Amino acid sequence: MNAEIIAVGSELLTPFRQDTNSLYLTEKLNTLGVEVSFKTIVGDNLKDIVRVTKAALSRSDILIFSGGLGPTEDDLTREAVAQTLGLHLKRDPDIVQAIERRFTEHGWKMSPNNVKQADVISGATVLPNANGTAPGQWIGGRSDGREKLVVLLPGPPHELKALFESSVLERLRAKVPKQSLAARVIKITGMGESACDARVAPIYKRFTDVDTTILAAPGEIQLHVHTRKDSDEAANNRLDELVGLIEEELGDNVYSDNGDSLEQIVSYFLQMRDATLSVAESCTGGLVAERLTSVSGSSRYFIGGAVVYSNELKTQLADVPADLIDVYGAVSEQVARALAEGIRKKCGTTLGLGVTGVAGPTGGSAEKPVGLVFHALASEGGTEVIKRNFPGDRARIRWFASQQALDMVRRKLM
Ligand code: ATP
Ligand code: MG
Repeated sequence: MNAEIIAVGSELLTPFRQDTNSLYLTEKLNTLGVEVSFKTIVGDNLKDIVRVTKAALSRSDILIFSGGLGPTEDDLTREAVAQTLGLHLKRDPDIVQAIERRFTEHGWKMSPNNVKQADVISGATVLPNANGTAPGQWIGGRSDGREKLVVLLPGPPHELKALFESSVLERLRAKVPKQSLAARVIKITGMGESACDARVAPIYKRFTDVDTTILAAPGEIQLHVHTRKDSDEAANNRLDELVGLIEEELGDNVYSDNGDSLEQIVSYFLQMRDATLSVAESCTGGLVAERLTSVSGSSRYFIGGAVVYSNELKTQLADVPADLIDVYGAVSEQVARALAEGIRKKCGTTLGLGVTGVAGPTGGSAEKPVGLVFHALASEGGTEVIKRNFPGDRARIRWFASQQALDMVRRKLM
C-alpha cells in the first residue's frame, strides 16, 4: 500500500511557513511499512484541493490530509474531499455541543462560524481532537476496485500529532498488511560522493530488495538504506548483511551505521580510550568546541580550549612562538602544529587539536587561498597535520574544517 500526504494551506506555499507535518507523518507511515509515494502542498482554494484529491485518489491507496479543518472561510478541506468523493457533509450535533463546551470551559464566546467544524462527511468516523476544536475524520471506501482510505487531520502540528497517535496509528496498523521496515544511515568521511558511489554501487545494486539513496552532506557522504520484510528480524538481517559489506569495502571511512553524528562518535571513542581533548581554534571560531559540547556528558572528556583569532592570543593562550607566526604566517602547518601542541600542554589533555585557515571570502592570497585550512592533532606520540583546500563559502569552509578536525580525533582513537 502506498500513501500520499496532502498539506493544505496557502501559507505553506510562501517562504514563511514550512510543511513539517508531512515529515512527521512520513516517519510514522514508514514505521508501519507504508511508503509515501507523493506529497502535495496545495493552497486554500476549493477547486485546487478537489483537483489534487482526484489525482491522489487515482494513484494512492491512503490519502492523509493536514490542515484546512478550521472555522474560517479558507478552511475548505472537508468541502473539497466530500465533493470529490461525491459524499455529503452533515452537521453533527454532538460535535457542535463539544465545540460549544470547549468555548465555555475556556470562558470564550463562540462565534457562529465555528459550527462548520462539526460538518462530517457521510460515513466518516469522527476522530476526537483533544487539543483543538476541529476533529479529524476517517473515511474508508472503494474506488476503481481498490480499497481507499482518506484521513483528515487538523493543521496545527501539536493537534495533528496527538490525534495521529491517539486515533490514527492503531487504526492504520489494523488496515495495512503487516510489514516491517528497517532503515539505516551509513555515514562516511574522507571521500567524495562519486568515488564512494563507484565503490559501493556494485554492492548495493545486488540487493535489489533494498532501497539505497546516496546523499552528499557537507564534509560527509550518507548512504540511506531501507527494506521491507515480513518480520523485523528479516528486515534487520538483510540490512546487516548489506551494511557489513559496505563497511568492509570502505573501511575506516565509515564512521557510523546508525545515524550518529561525528561528535557523538568522537565522544564514544574518547570515553572508550579514557582520553581527554582540548582545542585551539582560529578560523573555526569555536565551532569545533561547540560541536563537541553539543553532546551530553562531554565534560567527561572535553576539557575546553581557546578561540585564538589574533596572533597575540595564539601566543598567549596556546604558547605559539611569535617568531613562528612571523616566519610562516598564522595559516601554516607550523602554526597549526604549535597550536595543537601548545593547547594540549596548557590543558594537560591526552589530545590537543589546532585549526587555522582562511575562511574567506576575503583574506585569501595566491599563496594562501580562501579555503586553505591546516588541522593538527597532538598526542603523546607526536603531532599529525592535515592540509586541505576546501571549496565553498565561509560557512561551508568552517564546517568542513570542524568536520576534518573531529575526524582526525576519530581516526586517531579507532
Ligand atoms: P485551525 O483550527 O487552527 O484553523 P486547521 O486544521 O484549519 O486548524 P490550518 O488553519 O491549516 O489548520 O493551520 C493552522 C496552523 O497550523 C497554522 O499556524 C499553520 O501554519 C500550521 N500548519 C498547518 N499545516 C501545517 C503543516 N503541514 N506543517 C506545519 N504547520 C502547519
Ligand atoms: Mg485554519
